[in-house]
Amino acid sequence: MPLMPEYNRESIKTSILGKLQRYDGCSLEEATPKQVYKAVASTVRDQIMQKWRFEKEARKNEKAKRLYYLSIEFLTGRWLHNNMLNLCATEDYKAAFKDLGIKMEDVLREEPEPALGNGGLGRLAACFMDSLATLDLPAMGCSIRYEYGLFRQRIVDGQQVELPDSWLEYGNSWEIPALEDAVEIHFGGTVEEEWVNGQLRATLKDYKTVIAVPYDMPVVGYDSDVVDCLRMWSARSPQRIDLASFSRGDFARAAEERELAEVISKVLYPEDKHYEGKMLRLKQHYFFTSATLQYAIKDYKRTYGPDLSHLPDKVAFHINDTHPGLVIPELMRILVDEEGLSWEQAEDLTIRSVAYTNHTIMPEALERWPESMMRDVLPRIYAILQELNRRLCARLFERFPGEWDRIGGMAILAYDQVHMANLCIAYSHSVNGVSQLHGEILKEQTFHDYYTVMPEKFSAITNGITPRRWLMLANPGLSSLLDESIGTGWRHDIAELRNALPLRDDAAFRDAFEKVKYGNKVRFSEWLERKQGVKIDPATMFDVQVKRLHEYKRQLLNAIHILVLYNRIDADPSYEIAPRTFIFGAKAAPGYARAKQIIRFINVVAQLIERHPRASKMIKVVFLENYDVSTAEMLMPAAEVSEQLSTASKEASGTGNMKFMMNGAVTIGTMDGANVEIHDEVGIDNIYIFGMRAHEVEALYAAGTYNSALIFETNQEIRKALTMMIDGSLTPDNPIVFQDLYHALLFGEYGNMADPYLVLKDFGSYSMAQRRLNDDYLNREKWLRMAITNTACSGVFSSDRTIEEYNSKIWHLKALKRH
Ligand SMILES: *Cc1c(COP(=O)(O)O)cnc(C)c1O
Repeated sequence: MPLMPEYNRESIKTSILGKLQRYDGCSLEEATPKQVYKAVASTVRDQIMQKWRFEKEARKNEKAKRLYYLSIEFLTGRWLHNNMLNLCATEDYKAAFKDLGIKMEDVLREEPEPALGNGGLGRLAACFMDSLATLDLPAMGCSIRYEYGLFRQRIVDGQQVELPDSWLEYGNSWEIPALEDAVEIHFGGTVEEEWVNGQLRATLKDYKTVIAVPYDMPVVGYDSDVVDCLRMWSARSPQRIDLASFSRGDFARAAEERELAEVISKVLYPEDKHYEGKMLRLKQHYFFTSATLQYAIKDYKRTYGPDLSHLPDKVAFHINDTHPGLVIPELMRILVDEEGLSWEQAEDLTIRSVAYTNHTIMPEALERWPESMMRDVLPRIYAILQELNRRLCARLFERFPGEWDRIGGMAILAYDQVHMANLCIAYSHSVNGVSQLHGEILKEQTFHDYYTVMPEKFSAITNGITPRRWLMLANPGLSSLLDESIGTGWRHDIAELRNALPLRDDAAFRDAFEKVKYGNKVRFSEWLERKQGVKIDPATMFDVQVKRLHEYKRQLLNAIHILVLYNRIDADPSYEIAPRTFIFGAKAAPGYARAKQIIRFINVVAQLIERHPRASKMIKVVFLENYDVSTAEMLMPAAEVSEQLSTASKEASGTGNMKFMMNGAVTIGTMDGANVEIHDEVGIDNIYIFGMRAHEVEALYAAGTYNSALIFETNQEIRKALTMMIDGSLTPDNPIVFQDLYHALLFGEYGNMADPYLVLKDFGSYSMAQRRLNDDYLNREKWLRMAITNTACSGVFSSDRTIEEYNSKIWHLKALKRH
């Protein structure tokens, strides 16, 4: 057999049939859809493995610096289609399927969706892997191989119900276990210090061991020879079974110990922008950071020998938010305890190797661990944190003598808690925000004290999305139209989308653009009916708000506005709007009662409208079940309006906003996160901006003068809509369902301010922007010009640009040579 067998229509066919024969002992006719999927996936995998071998070789020969991108989440979505696309093999596979009488969609549908993330943070990590490989940069993504990903959501009687997501049930076609790289992770125990050759050495005794076993998912770059790797660590007990208990006949106990170890990689925490000090979570964080570091150091020594002084020139550890922040004390532990380096040298190497991205300024999301928990679970790490903290505070004292409050706010250990963000800022060489506005807020507010001491560390790098998945794969109609109109250059250099800008003046192009959008709306409508049994009309405006449910994202603002529209229609028989389908999709964290209430509110408003003969002609509200990456791929190309309503300053960047923009939806949004930059790219005439600005929000909070009740009293429309929450109009059988929601908006609860996310404050401005949007939509030429402008200006939001910025500012990786 030749080293590089060709993959073409014929050999793909042969491979698929051969695999069915060899693995399942069946013919194509007898095969189940799952078996067909597996045979196809396995063929694609063979094709990838071929490239992977060459890439490994190249990296070794070139001794290239490698990035380890640590993230507690990688929300990749499905892999099959993306892999075909990046191999530039989609057409070959389609042709082979045609010969075999298989439908592409039927095959793609069979892949279980890896939902190993909550939302934006995890999806960003996945887009980054795609861009890293596409730009030929050597990188390994590192995370946990959760047996259960984010829960699957069902909506029953208008309310969220959570079901487990057992995505590995039928196996994972893309992963390759790397048993030879398994490592031990130690928990608990006691630290003992002893003098060895005149040096004080710390060793951990009586610890419990968990084995970390890596599973590698190859990540192919688009039209590239480079295959990077997403490494997911799985927890195993060192004793497959406790033989002593087993031979005593105590089978349950024998299994217990094993369960205890393996629970570490069992489930993804379903929290987003919220933090809880759970011991299992701390174990998860240490588990995958320690495993990653042990491997990275082993690989470094294998490649470069025992001298670790060049570590920062050969590896970069990037931490996606503070969850992998224990990379800092763990690297110190390895360098000092295991490699025998001096504290000073270890500290220098650590700082120069580690970089940190912050993802939120919301105080409830900033990670803080009880010191006692850290001490019990990770005693040696705790001791290292104490020493890092002691040295840090001594330096800070020189700068701010006697300012104990300020030093306490910057310390790693303070008020019986471990402050992860402070650790990550003090002991890394780079701290970045994820949009320009977010970067400013970090410097001026959240981490202002640190900024004054170490300004050179701070930067802002705006997030991005991969145009492979979010345009080429998701929107083949628009992709073909672009190919025909501006050539195919944009597929390799997304900045070329700009060339479509002048085409907004071309009537024929506008028509073609509209046809593509309409086709995507029809496709989405059919998909929705099949999946959820809901019929929507593709001739109506598709207005979409999809993202995690959180009060700061203000789905409630959208829902109250819909209720106000309903009231206008109900009160005035001559009131008309352009028929609109409002589409929501959002999962709420299972413990977040208010978020679940908002889901219920949306669904109740939907039912109210459904029952009204005239309102239901102009408005339809649908709540998509189980919003995930595959849903987004179907939805983005069909969307016409993108709702980005966060209270200004709260959304660090947003990436959903970029997916919509690239697919030609027009944004209605606040000046928050990357919306600001979308505004800068398209200009004020091609976006609907409303609401308070970030500095105004800050000033209002600081003044403490906000009084939502005053708005309630003076604004009739708001008063009417809010009163419906409690007077039985919405839920006649149970009028108290939304009492809490009402109270939180008007009076505040548990000592919190009323309406902390300023829903009522921004309502008037939002409502006016919506009126303009409605009128513009009726002017087809004007609307299409806006839509085209959005797609044409979206190039800067490619994650290729983002990764190039990270690389030139922070990592300094060299692209591998192409063959
Ligand atoms: C892009 C994406 C997100 C992030 O959306 P935001 O609007 O930026 O919060 C969340 N979930 C999924 C499935 C996504 O694809």
